[in-house]
Amino acid sequence: MKLYDTAIVGGGIAGYTAALTSKNLLLDYIWFGEEGFGDKLRLAEKITNFPTVTGDGADFAKRLNAQMGSEKIALTPKRIDGIYRTGDNFTLSHGGELYLARTVILATGVEAGGRIRGEKEFLGKGVSYCAVCDGALYRGKTVAAVVSSPKFEAEVQYLAQFAKNVFFIPLYRGSALSGGNIAAVEKRPVAVEGESRVERLVLEDGVLKTDGVFFLKNSVPPAALAFGLETEEGHVKVDRALKTNLAGLFAAGDVTGRPYQYAKAAGEGCVAAHSVRAYLREFLRK
Ligand SMILES: Cc1cc2nc3c(=O)[nH]c(=O)nc-3n(C[C@H](O)[C@H](O)[C@H](O)COP(=O)(O)OP(=O)(O)OC[C@H]3O[C@@H](n4cnc5c(N)ncnc54)[C@H](O)[C@@H]3O)c2cc1C
Repeated sequence: MKLYDTAIVGGGIAGYTAALTSKNLLLDYIWFGEEGFGDKLRLAEKITNFPTVTGDGADFAKRLNAQMGSEKIALTPKRIDGIYRTGDNFTLSHGGELYLARTVILATGVEAGGRIRGEKEFLGKGVSYCAVCDGALYRGKTVAAVVSSPKFEAEVQYLAQFAKNVFFIPLYRGSALSGGNIAAVEKRPVAVEGESRVERLVLEDGVLKTDGVFFLKNSVPPAALAFGLETEEGHVKVDRALKTNLAGLFAAGDVTGRPYQYAKAAGEGCVAAHSVRAYLREFLRK
């Protein structure tokens, strides 16, 4: 398996700047994320606080896309579902595919709305953030899928191949997904409950009996992605060099905390790539 200098996780402005800086520093990088720089950039109405950008998010994305082409920045359009330390390096997984890197830059953004009661406590005991990783565990069982964006509906259909029943709970309007063993439930979830494992999803109005709950959203809590990562009030704890408590793992952008702004995210993407280079120089000297 190829060993990269760094794996950048997150396709927004922080991840992009980390990739651009990595390229300029001659680091052998792999950059994971969705194409188009993410909703938070693409859907902004008007941008007045980023150098040279005066239009909307779509215009900003167009400029970044043009630069990505001219600078030959490569994006691997995949979601990473786990980051594990393996010896001196990190293994990153996407479904069954594995990638190996000496360092990681986490630039996964933050999810508005945070977590509901029980979501954290039952992680790995019926709560999951990845249908393709854990869906097969629910063969013949009942699962609930709390879904933040239409782009995750394919994952709900994936779950339906294994589960007997799927409660589909979209947190947005206008979905037509239902039928067969998928039942759409348009009520907000408020808590996950059970004894030692998930048994119920409590809604604002009612309760669903379920064996598992999948939260399918843009940014999963960072500590759920990288085991042992220290966080504080939902943000990754970093120092000024954007080092985390895990040697070789850096974080940049909204994931490290406020202010949630493009300029701060872009600056941190740049700093994180420089910190990777400094870390690798030190590491390779040993
Ligand atoms: C509607 C709106 C308007 C805004 N307007 C402004 C503005 O005018 N000015 C301003 O300064 N700020 C604005 N902001 C805030 C700004 O969008 C954020 O501060 C900025 O996008 C943060 O960049 P980021 O790269 O850290 O995270 P994000 O932009 O959230 O990007 C993270 C990306 O990583 C992807 N990702 C997450 N997990 C994974 C994974 N496991 N594997 C692969 N990819 C993953 C996500 O899907 C996402 O595409 C606005 C925000 C919103 C919502």
